[in-house]
Amino acid sequence: MDVENINTLSELSSTQTTVFYPGFDIDVHPVSFSVEGRGFKINAAQLMSHSEFFRNMLNEAQRNGPLGSPGEGSAHSPIVVEGCTKDQFTSFMLWLNHSAWDASGISDAQGYLDILHVAHMWEIKSAFGFAIKELSSDKLPKALRPAHKIYLARRYGIVEWIPIPVRILLRTPLDCYTEEDHKHLGFSTVNLLAIAKEKIANIRRQLAHHTPYPSLRALEKAPHCSHQATCKKAWVDCWEKELSRQIHHPSEHFPLSRSIDTLRGMKHSGMHAECKKFVLNWMEKTCVGHTKEDRFIREVITAVEQEEYIRMF
Ligand SMILES: [Zn+2]
Repeated sequence: MDVENINTLSELSSTQTTVFYPGFDIDVHPVSFSVEGRGFKINAAQLMSHSEFFRNMLNEAQRNGPLGSPGEGSAHSPIVVEGCTKDQFTSFMLWLNHSAWDASGISDAQGYLDILHVAHMWEIKSAFGFAIKELSSDKLPKALRPAHKIYLARRYGIVEWIPIPVRILLRTPLDCYTEEDHKHLGFSTVNLLAIAKEKIANIRRQLAHHTPYPSLRALEKAPHCSHQATCKKAWVDCWEKELSRQIHHPSEHFPLSRSIDTLRGMKHSGMHAECKKFVLNWMEKTCVGHTKEDRFIREVITAVEQEEYIRMF
């Protein structure tokens, strides 16, 4: 590059108004917080980009509004954070400062729970979503217990954390609930689950012990079969020996909603294919026994979501 060109460049840089690249016109200024007596200095822009709550809060602080005295947020007069602990705030800061090339340094559930708490408190959607994703991950060294998930779901409004834990708890014997589970669920929910378990056990017993079969009147519409009695016996035998056993299986859970598909796949020795098709069709259209369990569980899930005691029992 020759001398003439260098002069032109320096002239340019001294006279041109700087036009910032989109997204890089950010005021960088530090803001200090104090949590349980410990200081945290953060780039305010970083927080403001994540949270509307924060934008409002820091703008208010700059205008000397309700947050208090001039200079609040400086190292001498930090913003005092209440409603979270120093450790929770540290985990949140680790998330705030982490980048794609530098992992957050958090690897256990507690760190993500901390982020969840602070993110909820300050309405920081990105951090909230991050914590939920990590807490739901299979990579977590120790998964959260279902009762703990229900507690968090209610506390922070994570609706998607209710259905599966409720289903797991309904299948878990009451004496396997730990003291911590009881604490997380609370008396009314444990009570609700206990009553619901009894009702589900009844629904299952009823279906296992009472083989549904079309009445003689309903059978009038069935395809002609000269061995109706044999077909019925094959159906009942299969129900009592195969399906009933699966329903009562002590360790492998069999959801009743799978009954029709399971029966369809079973070998009903001695039953005509057309008769079996007719009975399955009849069962699908007119029987409610195999659908009762799932409908009831959905009601329990809604009740747990709303923390209401259901009066249907
Ligand atoms: Zn038949």
